[in-house]
Amino acid sequence: MGRKFYINSNIERLFALFGTLVLILILNIILANTLLKKIQNDAKLTFIQQCEDTVEDYTLALQTKLENIESEIDIIYAKLAYKTLSPESIQEVLVREKNNLSINFTEIVYSDTKGNTYNFYGENHSIADRPYFKIIMEGKTKFYVSRVLESKHNGEPIIVFARPLYDETNRITGVLCVGCPLETISSFIDEIKIGLNKKMSVRDLDGKFIKHYNNAWTNWTFHSGIKKPKNFKETEKIDSVMQTTDVDGNDVYVFYKEMENAPWTIGMTVSLSEFKKIDKKQKDYQNFVLEIIIVVLALIFLIEMWIHSFLERHQILSTHIDSVTHLWVRSYFEKEANKLLKRYPQSKFIMIEADIRGFKFINQNMGELKANQVLFQFSKILYETTKVFDGIISRGYADHFYVFIKITSVHKAMHIFKDALKKLDENLKQQDLPISPKFGLSFYIPKKMDSSITAQTLISRAHFAKDSIKENALQTFAIYDERLLKRSNEDNFIETHMENALKNREFFVMYQPKVDLNTDKVVGAEALVRWQSPVLGFMPPNSFIPLFERNNFVIKLDFYVYEEVFKFLRKSLDKGEPTVPVSVNMSRNHDKPDRFVHDFTNLLKKYDIPPRLVEVELLERSSMDKNVLREVTLMLQKEGFKVAMDDFGSGESSLNMLSTIPVNVLKFDRSFLFASDAKEGKLDATSENFIETLIDLGKNLKKETIFEGVETEEQRDFLRKIKCDQVQGYFYSKPLREEEFMEFLKKHR
Ligand code: C2E
Ligand code: MG
Ligand code: MG
Repeated sequence: MGRKFYINSNIERLFALFGTLVLILILNIILANTLLKKIQNDAKLTFIQQCEDTVEDYTLALQTKLENIESEIDIIYAKLAYKTLSPESIQEVLVREKNNLSINFTEIVYSDTKGNTYNFYGENHSIADRPYFKIIMEGKTKFYVSRVLESKHNGEPIIVFARPLYDETNRITGVLCVGCPLETISSFIDEIKIGLNKKMSVRDLDGKFIKHYNNAWTNWTFHSGIKKPKNFKETEKIDSVMQTTDVDGNDVYVFYKEMENAPWTIGMTVSLSEFKKIDKKQKDYQNFVLEIIIVVLALIFLIEMWIHSFLERHQILSTHIDSVTHLWVRSYFEKEANKLLKRYPQSKFIMIEADIRGFKFINQNMGELKANQVLFQFSKILYETTKVFDGIISRGYADHFYVFIKITSVHKAMHIFKDALKKLDENLKQQDLPISPKFGLSFYIPKKMDSSITAQTLISRAHFAKDSIKENALQTFAIYDERLLKRSNEDNFIETHMENALKNREFFVMYQPKVDLNTDKVVGAEALVRWQSPVLGFMPPNSFIPLFERNNFVIKLDFYVYEEVFKFLRKSLDKGEPTVPVSVNMSRNHDKPDRFVHDFTNLLKKYDIPPRLVEVELLERSSMDKNVLREVTLMLQKEGFKVAMDDFGSGESSLNMLSTIPVNVLKFDRSFLFASDAKEGKLDATSENFIETLIDLGKNLKKETIFEGVETEEQRDFLRKIKCDQVQGYFYSKPLREEEFMEFLKKHR
């Protein structure tokens, strides 16, 4: 059975999804600051490592290059070694060898132990002032590479390579120097194919560029301030790294390494922006990961939502579902109803509480299983009847059902509701379900009501309305309204105060005269109770007797009235004042004839009142068992009281009762007098005929007849004409206080 019990709860879940996504975003930012930062740092380290490796490889390659130069020099050396040659012959060798060399040296110079040189140009200079001359002569190195020097031959910048010359005894006999123009070295270095796309440079001890990636700067001395970068991680392999500005003034990092066989430093320049690029790349990567996470999570949530609503729709989620009826449980229903109230604050709603009359009886007599079946069947019919309106429905405790529907107007809703009731009734008959449900209705009307109203309040109002339907089986529904609540509050108030009111003698009796139509004299009175409450003010019996009948307090009150009446009679008798029979009302709650008659006569004896002065009015409409009424009547008559049938003709079975309950008096209900076309106290012909027939009937049965509620002369005249015995009504007198009544009696005796 596919049932749609709800309007929509997906919006709420979307909000949940949004909230969660925001949470995840925050988590991600935290994550990015720790984990992703680490990844980013790792990437930086890798980049640094690569730079360092390049510098390292470049250094090795340049070292090898220098070794090549060394071996070229060794070739010349081989021509001169261990030979005791005059400087002139050495010069000759040098001039000869010059053309055999693969490298284009500017000059090849031989120096004797004094520093006097002989080059292949045939020039003579002194190199005694050159620092390397001393170093070699002292045997401190076997191969020397200089910084950038000025050629003694032509003043051009050169690099000098030098080595010692030995004699047979391994004594240093001089120095062999080779001068190589900076350009040659530079192009020689250019042959190194490592770090091709990197900005490589070679500097000497003085900071002069032997080679600059921008050739224009070769032989330029780098003067800019050099500082070590802050927080820059160095590895073991590289000597150092520094942050500085390059020749163009840009911020750069320079990875550098000193060479082993030359006083040179290899440098690789990396611009700061390259590092930033890594950062950016990482950021992009990070964002990408974030986006993926969000998309995946969103997907998961959507799938979850879908599964959830699927399960709900197919009632697989049982926490919201009542196992007996398969409807929502009340708590979930309330939640959903509240959501609807919030979502449509400008809409009207109807809340209905339904229950099955006598469900307790079904439960007790047919067993739980059968009762559950009834509940299920009823829920099904209820659901079918209400589903058309796209509302929500649930089952609460026992046989309580709730329906909540968005409506356009109260009027329309009531129209639809009544139609639905008819259909429901037909359905119940069709399904052979002998139950009669009752309904309490409450409305939410936005402009008239507090907007903070909740489903719970609407339910309790509907419940309250439903509870106001009492035993009266004909009423199927009740609508909550404020007056109902006021009445209930009053009822509550009355109930808490009634005992005290009785003690405080707030109740008192009034007497309404009965007049004989033949003589126009007062022949009796009816005792009618009143309540003068210091809080609620003056109250007629209609505003408290029905409640007292429900809570049984009327039994006490009746006896209080009887006692007041007896006291009054006693007083009159004692004073020797005139008396007439007073009739008292007997409530339908006195259902034990023996007990009633016993108590009643005892009280009468207490005040020593002759029974002829007392008449008892029974309520014909009473739900009392006919046998009880009959018994009471007979017992009272036996004790000498007259018994009247009050409000005769207002119930459904008056005539029927007439034959079984042998009352002495028929007291006709005043409703006859305002039947159909009664205008200004005038009766129409049909009513007159009807009343006449009734009075005749009474006469034939040998009953006394009295008419209540006679307000006009016409009514009185008519009743006199048709031979009604007595009347009681405002035409003669309203109910009077004791003294007033005594006066009235004395006047109309
Ligand atoms: P009831 O016993 O039928 O009393 C007659 C009611 O009709 C009285 O209303 C009386 O004031 C009213 N009545 C009399 N003549 C006229 C008239 O010409 N026009 C109109 N419009 N009304 C007239 P009341 O006193 O309000 O009593 C109402 C009902 O309360 C009584 O109906 C009776 O059923 C009940 N009641 C009153 N006192 C007692 C009591 O002490 N015990 C019990 N159990 N019920 C009482
Ligand atoms: Mg009465
Ligand atoms: Mg009456």
